[in-house]
Amino acid sequence: MEKPRVAVLGLGIMGGGMAGRLLSAGFPVSVYNRSREKSEQFAKVGALVAGSPREAVARAEIVISMVADDAASRAVWLGETGALAGVSSGSILIESSTLSVNWVKELAGLAAQRECELLDAPVTGTKPHAASGELFFMVGGSSSALGRAREVLSVLGREVVHLGPTGSGALVKLINNVVCGVQAASFAEALALVNVSGLDRDKCIAVLSNSALASPLIKRMLANRAANDFTPNFPLKLMAKDIGYAMNEAANCGLPLQTAGPALEVFKRAVDQGLGDEDFSAVVKSVRKN
Ligand code: NAP
Repeated sequence: MEKPRVAVLGLGIMGGGMAGRLLSAGFPVSVYNRSREKSEQFAKVGALVAGSPREAVARAEIVISMVADDAASRAVWLGETGALAGVSSGSILIESSTLSVNWVKELAGLAAQRECELLDAPVTGTKPHAASGELFFMVGGSSSALGRAREVLSVLGREVVHLGPTGSGALVKLINNVVCGVQAASFAEALALVNVSGLDRDKCIAVLSNSALASPLIKRMLANRAANDFTPNFPLKLMAKDIGYAMNEAANCGLPLQTAGPALEVFKRAVDQGLGDEDFSAVVKSVRKN
C-alpha cells in the first residue's frame, strides 16, 4: 500500500529528527521551517521544501507540527500562508509541540472548520529518540483520527498512548514537564549546596547518583555537567515555557502549583543569564555559587 504524504512543519531539534526518520522510512515528505536554511539538508534526501506552511501541506494527508510554543504554533497554522489555509478536507493534523491546552482546543475547532481532525500528540524523549523513532506519544483526540495517524506515529515512536479527548495529550505532557522542571531546579540547588558546603564533591555525586533521586533526568544533568557539555537536546528556555504553561493550566483547574513557581524563577533567571538556548541541564550553571 502507498504510504501517506506527510508534511512536517518545524525542523528544529525534534522536528528535524522526525522528518529525517520519516524520509528514511520511505514516506513522501514535504517540509517547512521558518529559517529556510534548516530545510536544505532535507531537500538532499528527497523532501519537498516548501516556502510556507500552506505550500507544505498542499498535498499532505498527514500534517505534523513540531515548533517551539503557542506563538510558533499559531504562526505555522494561522494566516494567509498558514497550514490551515492549505489543508485538504479529511487530512489528519497532528500537533506534537508542547503547547497550552487552551490553544490546542482552539486549534482543534479551527481544524474542524476545515473538515480536518486534530490530534494533540506531544512527546517525551529527546533529540536521539526523535531521530531513531523512539518517542513516546501522548495523544488527545478521536480514536478514529488516531487510527488513521498510527502508521506514521508508529514509525516515529516506540509507544503511542491515547489519553482521551482533545487537550488530554497536551495536559499530560505539561504535568510531566512541570515535575521535570521542579526536579531539575531543585537538583541544581542541591549541587550548589554541595559546592558551598565544603563536602567532598566527587563522593557526594557518587552517593546522589546511586540514590533514589537519580532519575534518568538527573542522570542526564550529571552527565552533561561532568562533560561540561550543554549542547541543547532540550533547550532550557523551552523548559521555562513548559513550567509556565503547566502553572496556568493548574490555575485554570483551581490548583495552584506551589513548587512550580520557585522552579520557574530559577529557570527564568537562567534565561536572563543567557542560558536559554543551552540544554536545560545548564540550569546548574545558573545556580552555581562562585
Ligand atoms: P527547537 O530546536 O528550538 O525548534 C523550534 C522550532 O520552532 C524551529 O523549527 C523554529 O524555527 C520554530 N519556531 C520558533 N518560533 C517560531 C515562530 N514564531 N514561527 C514559526 N516557527 C517558529 O525546539 P525543539 O527542541 O525541536 O522543540 C520543539 C517542540 O517540542 C517544543 O514545543 C518543545 O517543548 C517540544 N519538546 C522538545 C523536546 C526536546 O528534547 N528538545 C522533547 C519533548 C518535547 P527556526 O528554526 O526558524 O527558529
